[in-house]
Amino acid sequence: MRRYTLLLLILWGAWQSLSAQVNPELFSLFDRHHPGLESVYEAFDAGDTLQAAERLVEYFRTRKGVVCPGFDPEAVELSEEHRRWADEALEHRFFVHSGYQPSLFYGEDIDWEYWPVRDNELRWQLHRHKWWVPMGKAYRLSGDERYAREWRLQYLDWIRKNPLEGFVNTEKGAGEGTIDLMTAPNALYAWRPLEVSDRLEFQIQQFLLFLPSPEMDGPFLSHFLVNYHRHCAHLAENLSAHGNHRLFQAQRLLYGAVFFPEFKESKGWREEMIAILNEEIERQVYPDGMQYELDPHYHLEAINIFFGALQMCDANGLREAFPTSYLERVEQMIEIHYNYSFPDLSTPLFSDARAQEIDHLLTSYRAWSRVFPENEMIRHLATQGAEGSYPDHLSKAFPESGFYVLRNGWDKEATVMVLKAGPPAFWHCQPDNGTFELWIKGRNFLPDTGCYVYSGDEEINRQRAWFRQTQVHNTLTLDGKNLEQTLSRCLGFDSTPERDLLVVENPSYEGLTHRRSVHFVKGEFFVIIDEALGDRGGEVELNYHLLEGDHKIDLEEHSLTTHFADGNNLHLQTFGAARMKMATRTGRVSRTYRHYEERPWVSFSVEKVASPAVRFVTLLIPFEGRRAPRCSVKIQGEELRIKVGHKGYRIAINE
Ligand code: MG
Repeated sequence: MRRYTLLLLILWGAWQSLSAQVNPELFSLFDRHHPGLESVYEAFDAGDTLQAAERLVEYFRTRKGVVCPGFDPEAVELSEEHRRWADEALEHRFFVHSGYQPSLFYGEDIDWEYWPVRDNELRWQLHRHKWWVPMGKAYRLSGDERYAREWRLQYLDWIRKNPLEGFVNTEKGAGEGTIDLMTAPNALYAWRPLEVSDRLEFQIQQFLLFLPSPEMDGPFLSHFLVNYHRHCAHLAENLSAHGNHRLFQAQRLLYGAVFFPEFKESKGWREEMIAILNEEIERQVYPDGMQYELDPHYHLEAINIFFGALQMCDANGLREAFPTSYLERVEQMIEIHYNYSFPDLSTPLFSDARAQEIDHLLTSYRAWSRVFPENEMIRHLATQGAEGSYPDHLSKAFPESGFYVLRNGWDKEATVMVLKAGPPAFWHCQPDNGTFELWIKGRNFLPDTGCYVYSGDEEINRQRAWFRQTQVHNTLTLDGKNLEQTLSRCLGFDSTPERDLLVVENPSYEGLTHRRSVHFVKGEFFVIIDEALGDRGGEVELNYHLLEGDHKIDLEEHSLTTHFADGNNLHLQTFGAARMKMATRTGRVSRTYRHYEERPWVSFSVEKVASPAVRFVTLLIPFEGRRAPRCSVKIQGEELRIKVGHKGYRIAINE
C-alpha cells in the first residue's frame, strides 16, 4: 500500500514538473511565418523554449486584429448564479447540469469519472466545464488570483486524467451511437465531439479572461495551446454526420480556426467549416425555415449557430464567407420562430424543447436586429415594443415542417394555437403528430408534456419514454400505443376574418388514419373535428392534457372547465358517439430538465369496430369568469350545428 502511494506521489511530482515546463510540441503546430511570431521563433531556434513561450504570451497579450464578437473581456458582467458557480468551483463543487442541483462535489483530488446518477448528460456535460467562464469573469471583476490559479490547476488536472487515447467514434448520425455507454471507456465521454466543440468555444473566452494573469505564463500557455489544437484536430476528424451536433461542431471549430489563425491547419479548417455550414443550412432547414429536428429548442440553437458563424466571419474580415442566400435563410428561420412564439416570447415544449429564458431570447433578438434592421417584427421584439411593428398577417402555415399557427393577434391579449403535424424527424422529435398548445391572454392552457430527461441507464430511459408517449400529447391514439408512422400532410389551410381552417392527416397506424380539422371561429373559439379513418379496429382514444390548477371535470357532460381566480378560463367539451367514454388520469408537464408537475389528463374513447369511421368533435371555448357558457353540438348530415351560450354557428364537416 505504502509502495503504491509512493508511486502515485512520484507520478504526481513528475506531472507537476512537466506541467511547469514548456511543451515544445507547440512550436511545430504553429505556422512560424505567421506575422508577429518572428521573435518567438528566434528564441525557439536558439534553443530557448521558455523564452519563446514567454514571448508568445506577450504576443497574445498585445495581438490585434482577431475579434471574438459578442464577448468583451474588459466589460464582463457576472450574475449571482454564475458567481455561485465560480465560488463553488474553488471547492470542487461543480455546476454540471441544472437538473442536478445543488452542485456536486467531485473530490479534493478531482474525480472526472464521478457519475452518481446514470444520466448521460450528467457525465458528458461535466466535460463542458461550465464554471470556468464564470471563474474567469469573477477573476476579471475582483482581480483575485485564486480564480486564475484554480482554473490553471483544474485545466491541467483535466488534461492529465482525461487522455484522448481509447476514444472511438460511436456517433452514427444525430443519435447517441451504438456502444453501451454504461460500460464505455472514459474517453468516450470526455472526448465526445459535442463536448469537444463546446470546450473549443468557451475556452476562447477563458483564454481572453485569464490572459492578463501571471498564471498565464509561458509553460501554461504551451499546454493550453497544445490541448486546444488537439481538440481542433480531433473534432475535424470526428464530425457528426447529421443534426444539430454537426452544426454546433462546425460553428465551434470555425471559431477556433478564426480565433487562432496561427495554427498551420487553421485556414483549412476554416474553409471546410464554412463549406459545411453553407451546405447544412440548405440540408437541415426546410423551405419554410424550420430546422429538420422539429424541436423549438434546437431550432433556436440552430439559428444562433448559423448567425454566430456569420458574425465571427464578419468581425474578422471574412464577410464573403456566406452568400446573401445564407442570410435570407437565417432570417427565415427567425421568422418561423417568432410566428410560433407566444406573445410572452415563450415557445411550445414540443419534442425535447424546454422553457427558454426570456433574457436569452431578448439578447438573441437584439443581436439579430442589428443584422436584419429592415425586419420590423425582429426590431419590435428586440426593443420590447418600443420600435418596429407586428407582421401584416396573423395565422400562418409552415407545411413542409408541419408547424401551423392560428392566432387572432400578436399582443398579450391574443389567442394563439400552435399545432405540430410534420414529417419524420430525428432523435429529439417525438411521435406527437396532431398535438398542439393553446395560449390565451398570458396562459398556456394545454402545454406539451415536455421531455424530462434525455438518455442514460434503464431507469433514465424509462423516464424519457414516459414523456415521449403519443398518448401524453393532445392527439388521437389507437389502443394507447405510440404512432407507427409520423408522416403528416396538410389537406387544407385557409385564413379569413370569419374563420381559420386547418386540416391535417397522419397515417398513424397500419389501417388507421387520423384526420384533424381545426376551425378557429371568428377568432373566438375552436372546433376540432377528429376522425379515425380506415378498417383497423381497436380502442380509439382522444387525449387532452390541461394546465395544472383548479378545474372541474364533468364526466356526464364530457367536459373540463378551468377555474383560475383571475377569470381567464377555458372550457373543453367533447362530443362523440353515444358509446363514447370519458376517463381522467394524472398527466405531467416538464418545463425544465428533471422537473415535472402533475396535471389533469382527460381522454375520450370509442371502441372502433372495423371500417366505420370514429368521429369526435371538441369545443375549446375561452371565457371570462367562473361560469362557462353552455355548449352543444348537433350533427345534421355533413354539417355541425354548434351553440355557445346564446349564439349559434354552422360548420361544414368536410369543407
Ligand atoms: Mg412532447
